[in-house]
Amino acid sequence: MKYQHVHIVGAGLAGLSAAMDLAAAGIAVTVHDSSPAAGGRCRSYFDPQLGVRLDNGNHLLLSGNRAAYAFLDRVGARGTMGGPGAPVFPFMDIATGERWTVRPNAGRLPWWLFSRRRRVPGARLREFLPVLALSRGGPDATVAGTLRPGELYRRLLEPLAVAALNTPPETASAALLGAVMNESLALGGDACIPAYPKEGLSESFIDPAIAWLQARDATILLGSRVARLDQSGGRVTAIDAQPVGADEAVVLATPATVAATLLPGLEAPDQFEAILNVHYRCDADPGEAGFTGLVGGTAEWVFVKPGIVSVTISAGNRWINAAPADLAARVWSDVAAVLRLPQPMPPWRVIKEKRATFAATPAQDRRRPAGKTHLTNLVLAGDWTRTGLPATIEGAIRSGCTAASILTQ
Ligand SMILES: Cc1cc2nc3c(=O)[nH]c(=O)nc-3n(C[C@H](O)[C@H](O)[C@H](O)COP(=O)(O)OP(=O)(O)OC[C@H]3O[C@@H](n4cnc5c(N)ncnc54)[C@H](O)[C@@H]3O)c2cc1C
Repeated sequence: MKYQHVHIVGAGLAGLSAAMDLAAAGIAVTVHDSSPAAGGRCRSYFDPQLGVRLDNGNHLLLSGNRAAYAFLDRVGARGTMGGPGAPVFPFMDIATGERWTVRPNAGRLPWWLFSRRRRVPGARLREFLPVLALSRGGPDATVAGTLRPGELYRRLLEPLAVAALNTPPETASAALLGAVMNESLALGGDACIPAYPKEGLSESFIDPAIAWLQARDATILLGSRVARLDQSGGRVTAIDAQPVGADEAVVLATPATVAATLLPGLEAPDQFEAILNVHYRCDADPGEAGFTGLVGGTAEWVFVKPGIVSVTISAGNRWINAAPADLAARVWSDVAAVLRLPQPMPPWRVIKEKRATFAATPAQDRRRPAGKTHLTNLVLAGDWTRTGLPATIEGAIRSGCTAASILTQ
């Protein structure tokens, strides 16, 4: 085998998936993460203000996310995921109070578009056709420039695009949305079953992965920030002055901004979009799916778990400077309407992830590097590398698998 030992810098999903593939190939791994807890942008923590454990943000998986499910299966955590168990997407229009549930049918032929009980009210079939053109519009095409305005767009495609790309549709890459659609809606309802952790992101993805790695003698170093990589002769020769031997390699799986400082000259995404989550300490009826999409409100997706209601606002740069109390009050009026909850507002918490994802624009997509680098023993991983997908769990996990396969070839 080419490498006996690999250092993985970053214990987010990309780093963990690389570590798991390498460990499965019989290679010794050491995982370094600067944070005291693993998981990066996909983690749970105890929030002292609300007195509950929270996720850093609501995360939704689709059954078409095959790498994510392979990851969960490997660590024995598929059963920790919950959800409706069927392709069910309830929505409410805040302006009109109208409610509907989108239910894509199984199979590739989208006959749900013709069914009143399954489709978006007011939608016309011809609005769906441009969805098929998303991947064919060329690298500079935007979502808003490709899709046709109408009720299907406003009430389904736009909310899905903002959720998947975390970027305003006017600037978001049509090709990246097309890649998501090709692995979900275009395959039919079987690939669109939504799921989220029953308990928390860490309990589903992170803790089982760490346990799996430790059972294979991996070394996990938390609170261990890597500040310097030395290079010489076309390879990495030291991590923070600790020599990297000839039979050792490095997977750099930090966020893009950190990778760019550790590897001067690296071209990587340099524009980001925020995601805001507003959590309320209250009970509510989770409904059929456990979440509802809102159209025309401030809140976009409202998730209900026992004792906690959590709201996501994507493409959140426009709200980043809003006063948390104002935002919580504004979002609460949407939440109270959709969940039919009485005022006044319960205890709340606003979490702003400023650099939640790279801005999924055509220009930023072009800045994404491949996993393989000019250094023979260093590969990149992360949702910001050239995965062909937007910054998602699926993309992050696939990037880790790619990094591992480069090193084991
Ligand atoms: C609020 C929010 C909601 C989201 N919702 C969804 C969703 O619904 N569905 C979906 O699929 N995706 C969603 N995502 C995206 C998903 O969380 C990310 O794509 C994924 O977690 C990125 O994983 P990663 O390993 O690439 O990066 P990260 O998770 O950022 O991991 C990088 C790791 O590197 C560590 N690190 C940084 N600097 C150093 C250093 N110098 N030395 C050592 N370690 C270092 C960090 O501590 C971190 O643990 C969401 C993201 C956010 C923030």
